Amino acid sequence: MALGHEEPAAALTEPRLRLGCQSCGAMLVLEPSLRTTRCPYCAAPSVVERPPTPGVPEPRFALGFSLNHAAAREKVSHWLRSRSRFCRSGIRDAQPGDVHGVYVPAYLYSALATSRFQASIGENYQEQERYTTTENGKTVTRTRTVTRTEWRPLSGQVSGYVADVLVTASNGLHNDELEALEPFDLRGLARYTPALVSGWVAEEPTLTFEACLEKAREEVSGRLLDKLAALMPGDSHRELSHDSHLDWESLDVCLLPVWVLAVRYAQDAEPLRVLVNGQTGEVHGDAPLSVWKVAAAVVVGLLVVLGLWLFLQGGGR
Ligand SMILES: [Zn+2]
Repeated sequence: MALGHEEPAAALTEPRLRLGCQSCGAMLVLEPSLRTTRCPYCAAPSVVERPPTPGVPEPRFALGFSLNHAAAREKVSHWLRSRSRFCRSGIRDAQPGDVHGVYVPAYLYSALATSRFQASIGENYQEQERYTTTENGKTVTRTRTVTRTEWRPLSGQVSGYVADVLVTASNGLHNDELEALEPFDLRGLARYTPALVSGWVAEEPTLTFEACLEKAREEVSGRLLDKLAALMPGDSHRELSHDSHLDWESLDVCLLPVWVLAVRYAQDAEPLRVLVNGQTGEVHGDAPLSVWKVAAAVVVGLLVVLGLWLFLQGGGR
């Protein structure tokens, strides 16, 4: 028996258009009015209509954009101007081109972690040490204070809740790129409704649930080690290891706001892709270095060393 009346949310909005990028594999979902011929992630023109993918989980949560289009461009202009002098010519005075707001799918993971750990805990103590030395041609005995460490084993068990672990579910945005854009303030997460992302391009999760679960567990293992390290008593510790068990795992699809910009800085180069966290304005991109500028700097450096060496040789004569 149905206790409440469920609104058929999807039926209330117009049918959404599904496009697939044949270059990077992103699966885009958008309103017909937003029909695009280029992929917002990789700018490839090979975007084709595709049927719905069966078995794709619906997003559970979404985080809205707080940074508008103009502010994202401004962040990227500033970022470009502050790049290293060794970057390829044109990057520092390039103008950001197309800006696309994309709701990127990610998995939000949480679990209760129980860790059995063992480590060696070091306690420092001070001791007076006698030593002999030569003073004015005579051997004398003196004392000095030295710090020594006593090691003792420690093992135990701690449990705690791990939350807010994000791993990408997108083919268009890799996990290291997502990590570079983090943190997102997840207190702003709202329950997903199609209306929430209306007017925006969203991507469907393209990475499998299993692959993302594996990735999330890996991230958790690293975090647990850091957490345990912070808990260790004493002055220092070594050989910390843990065997952790995860219970009450949950993995939900959420949509994250990301601005994707293409920056064209040279006629003969692919546009540079720059990402902006649509909530915090954090910018990420890999500005390519100029081989020639780096090589020239190395040559100048070597010449300076050679010059100095010749100068010292000449002075020594
Ligand atoms: Zn693409």
